[in-house]
Amino acid sequence: MEKPPYTIVIAGGGTAGWMTAAALARFLERGYRIRLVESEAIGTVGVGEATIPQLRLYLDALGIDEDHFVRTTHGTFKLGIELENWLGDGHRYMHAFGNVGRDVGLIAFQHYWLRARQMGIAAGLDRYALNELAARAGRMHRGGPITAPAIPSMPYAFHFDASLFAGLLRCFAEERRVERTEGRITEVMRDGDSGDVAAIRLDSGERIAGDLFIDCTGFRAMLIGQTLGIDYEDWTHWLPCDRAIAVATAPLADPPLFTRASARKAGWQWRIPLQHRTGNGLVYCSSAISDDDAADLLMHHLDGAATGDPRLLRFAAGRRREGWHRNVIAIGLSSGFLEPLESTSIHLIQSAISRLLKLLPGHASGAADRAEYNRQTDFEIERIRDFLILHYHANTRPEPLWQACRAMTLPDSLGAKIALFAENGQIVREHEELFTEVGWLQVLIGQGISPKGYHPLADQIGDDDLAEFMETIPLLYEREVAQMPSHADFIARHCAGA
Ligand code: FAD
Repeated sequence: MEKPPYTIVIAGGGTAGWMTAAALARFLERGYRIRLVESEAIGTVGVGEATIPQLRLYLDALGIDEDHFVRTTHGTFKLGIELENWLGDGHRYMHAFGNVGRDVGLIAFQHYWLRARQMGIAAGLDRYALNELAARAGRMHRGGPITAPAIPSMPYAFHFDASLFAGLLRCFAEERRVERTEGRITEVMRDGDSGDVAAIRLDSGERIAGDLFIDCTGFRAMLIGQTLGIDYEDWTHWLPCDRAIAVATAPLADPPLFTRASARKAGWQWRIPLQHRTGNGLVYCSSAISDDDAADLLMHHLDGAATGDPRLLRFAAGRRREGWHRNVIAIGLSSGFLEPLESTSIHLIQSAISRLLKLLPGHASGAADRAEYNRQTDFEIERIRDFLILHYHANTRPEPLWQACRAMTLPDSLGAKIALFAENGQIVREHEELFTEVGWLQVLIGQGISPKGYHPLADQIGDDDLAEFMETIPLLYEREVAQMPSHADFIARHCAGA
């Protein structure tokens, strides 16, 4: 006799719910029934428009054409994040995706650069990052090198409209048998014997039973938090911002190829260029500035007039102590929140989906699978948390919030990373840590941490060779960038929105 299908119920249809539904629909074609419940009356967070290059893997795995995705979501391309004012007003640097310089022999580029800098013959780090040079010039290219085989390819991500993305994924999922139900979840029912979640009840009275439940109900965390009682571990002593005001402005003529994150007196402001509008927001600490003053601060720093009403969002940095408990897996905001400074939330959704698929529970699910899922989830989010804290801690701004951040006690993992770099410029990337050595390098240098020394192997090349090496890379990269079309032309050619 054929087994009944294994039913997966996704509670919530924001970015997390629809990304999960689409991926499960793509990979679980037989033996599974996938249902999604969402409430239009409750709505979604709706922001979440900047990403990192890993999103391309998700699109690719689902077979979603990239140009179709950009066109449908009115997206733009992104080569990095510009961080402005973190060392005082007017200071800026970029965390660009992709390599910086070129590693030689056993050691990383930064050691040669640090030696050259001590000798006074190095240009700024920005001149060695192809992505940054292209982003600053407003030029976009994908595919292989144009001018010389040694030129690296440019990793890129996207800015996009989150609600249009959810719509695209909904079509994708529904075409592949995901059953969507509109309604408000009023009750989560547990099995009296096992304690697992057995079903959810909707305001219509309908009862939706399942074997596995994915909690994508956002900050409400109706299943994992409210029902199963899994606590939230608060990280606001490290990441003190707890509110955001978001507002749109008109689109920019030639949209920048980077997200901008500008430090302000009590938080920081984002700018995300889309084809049809520009997303802006101020992330701030409510004990350092009132909501009204925060709104004024944001309005004062917009590139043009607001085109809609500002929206206030409240949150607390932290994570759910267990992302997978019993037969409930939290994905998205229900599993934790890290502010959008390095555009990592959508990536956390994507990697949770990939972990879920790797450790997919069958009809008999085990505690070991859950433990492994939770271990990997913890490692990933802690390392991203450290990367964000670095921006806050290593600042030189004068305001009280920023002074307090300089004085904070760091997580041991971050303290060790900074100490290692400050000595001899070493950066070690552990396991599957999200941010690469060059990501850390750009932010460590950008935030003003200067190593005392460098790896002694960098002394193995002569002064003249080092000087030539340091001069050649920027020249090659600048020549390459000059061949690229402007971002606006690139979009017009491949993926302009309707
Ligand atoms: P939500 O969007 O809140 O969706 C929750 C879903 O659950 C909705 O469909 C809702 O209707 C449903 N629901 C809730 N309760 C019920 C109920 N009782 N019954 C039925 N349905 C229910 N991420 C990035 O990667 N890049 C960014 O630039 C970025 N910027 C951000 C800026 C801010 C200020 C914030 C707060 C977040 C940002 N994020 C960003 C994070 C990103 O927005 C979220 O990770 C993403 O939207 C996922 O949200 P979600 O789907 O978990 O929750």
